[in-house]
Amino acid sequence: MKDRFLGWGSRNRNNIFLYACAVIHLVYLVFFAVIHVNMLVALNIFSVTFYAYMIFSRKSATQGAMVACYFEVLFFTALSSLITHGLGDFIFLDICMITIIFYLAPDFKVPRIILQLIGLLAAFFSLIIGRVSNVIFEASFQGVSRYETLICCTNLFISVVTTVFVSYLYTYELRKAQIEADFNVNHDYLTGLFNRRFFHDYMMKDGNVKPDYVIVMGDIDNFKGVNDFYGHDVGDEVLVRVSECLKKYVSDSDMAVRWGGEEFVLFFNGVSKEKVIEIMEDARDELHGIRIPTRRRELSVTMTFGIAAARRFYTYEDIIKLADLRLYYGKRNGKDCIISTDVK
Ligand code: GH3
Ligand code: MG
Ligand code: MG
Repeated sequence: MKDRFLGWGSRNRNNIFLYACAVIHLVYLVFFAVIHVNMLVALNIFSVTFYAYMIFSRKSATQGAMVACYFEVLFFTALSSLITHGLGDFIFLDICMITIIFYLAPDFKVPRIILQLIGLLAAFFSLIIGRVSNVIFEASFQGVSRYETLICCTNLFISVVTTVFVSYLYTYELRKAQIEADFNVNHDYLTGLFNRRFFHDYMMKDGNVKPDYVIVMGDIDNFKGVNDFYGHDVGDEVLVRVSECLKKYVSDSDMAVRWGGEEFVLFFNGVSKEKVIEIMEDARDELHGIRIPTRRRELSVTMTFGIAAARRFYTYEDIIKLADLRLYYGKRNGKDCIISTDVK
């Protein structure tokens, strides 16, 4: 639930930001109209118009739009501070924006640190204006002074909620990127099967492998011809369809690995060789049913498999070699078969 909400927030962050700004300015517009601070009404009309334009223009989702909004907030804060002589602590909005522009415009052509320094200058202006000069806009100052605490609290609330929300989004995105990176390190990009590196690490880790495991080495028959006649795309499609099929025959404690090219390893953990032979007969039958449409005709697929069971004092690499030897015996003897016994 929380992740779904953050996922939605992450995908729509720019629009959420634009709508939130528009709503806040609209509320301020009404509020200042009610308390008759006309200069702030005018300022908020400008801001609402700005956000309406941003929302309805097609550029709204870009980082440039976010930077434009950043400057709108700096401008709004500076003018509000000038008009109210620093009352209402609009500077909170600057502090929030200086923080979140880091997240909203990560790849903007102007470095974020420059934008943030500009923000800092604008914040200094807003802070100092109420301290160094005399009141310039007396009527606005008087109008706002009765509601100063309310306005301060509102600005503080907006700033804190926005910063907290953005922190959660940022953490969520980092976590998601980490999960994706971990997946990519362990999986083959094309087929989504585990890759050789993951398999090796898994086999080397104490406690993962049961004493009676079985390794199946499979290789697509005449695959080079598929690439040569139908193109690489069709070849890739074959690899994907074959992987989908093989994946169905391994359980959670087993593993389907893309070994390289058109070669696959199926690892069965704690299963007898007889059972694996049965499983592979079923897999081979299903492979025969695969049909891949091409420009010329429908393509079918066959594979040759070599099966080898764990032996005492043999490493998993030795068992792989044994399975490979059987696989190539199958290749030399007509292909589309399963070899599970010793060969010369
Ligand atoms: P055999 O029946 O003896 O296995 O013959 P084969 O043609 O399947 O085997 P060969 O080793 O001659 O060819 C394997 C081909 O696999 C060559 C290579 O271009 C292709 N290949 C390797 N990786 C990929 C890939 O990721 N995508 C595609 N489309 N082709 C690949
Ligand atoms: Mg092959
Ligand atoms: Mg091969």
